[in-house]
Order: sequence, then structure tokens, then C-alpha cells
Amino acid sequence: MDKALVKPNPTERKRCAAPRRDGQPCQAPAVTAAGFCFTHDPGLATQRAAARRRGGQNSARIVRLRGLVPRRLSDIYDVLEDALGEVRAGKLNPQQASAMASVARAMVAASRLGELEERLRELEEKSGGVK
Ligand SMILES: [Zn+2]
Repeated sequence: MDKALVKPNPTERKRCAAPRRDGQPCQAPAVTAAGFCFTHDPGLATQRAAARRRGGQNSARIVRLRGLVPRRLSDIYDVLEDALGEVRAGKLNPQQASAMASVARAMVAASRLGELEERLRELEEKSGGVK
């Protein structure tokens, strides 16, 4: 690319200077003084390692969380989990993922309401009905 043709655009945020694994320029905003994103700054290797360790702990938490997801919602959970990975890999439009999340939220809310009604009914039955 001819450098002379590249006009600096002050409204555009500075992008990371590193290439991605596929050779395309990294699209992440530069957040470090060296002009890289968090993933690509060579000076942040130790912090990245710490973040990965935290991430490992978080995925253990996710596995535990998964056990708490009601069975009828676990398919949605799977789809959302895949979507998260696809957004991260740049394969899914974040807007689409956001719409999916919003539909999923509505489904969870409806399911939670049904669950509460069921529990309430059980309680009422146990107590011999409301007097
Ligand atoms: Zn980068």
C-alpha cells in the first residue's frame, strides 16, 4: 500500500499494528502505548498469561454454571455458547449475536416465570390451598 495515499483520519481510532494469525490486519483498537491491542502487545505477555489462567478458572465456573441451566434451556445455551465463539472469531455479526441474546433473555424470563408458577402451585397444594 502506498503510504502517501493513506490520509490520517483523526476521528478514526487507531488500530492495532499487528497482523492477525490469518495475515489480515488486526481490527482491534490499539490500547497500549506501543500501538497494539491487548492480545498483540509483546510487552503484555505475562499479563496475558495471567488472564488466560483466570479464563481457565472462568471456564470451570461455566461448566458448573452449565449444570444449573434447566434442561429445556440447555439447547439455547449451546447455541449462545457457539455464537460467543463465532463473534470472537469474527465469523458472526455482533448485532446478530446481540439479537440472539435478546431473544434468549425473553425465553429465559418466560421459562423462569413458568417455574415460579409451578413452585407456587406446589406450595399451595402442600399447604392445602390458600384460605
Ligand atoms: Zn491486535
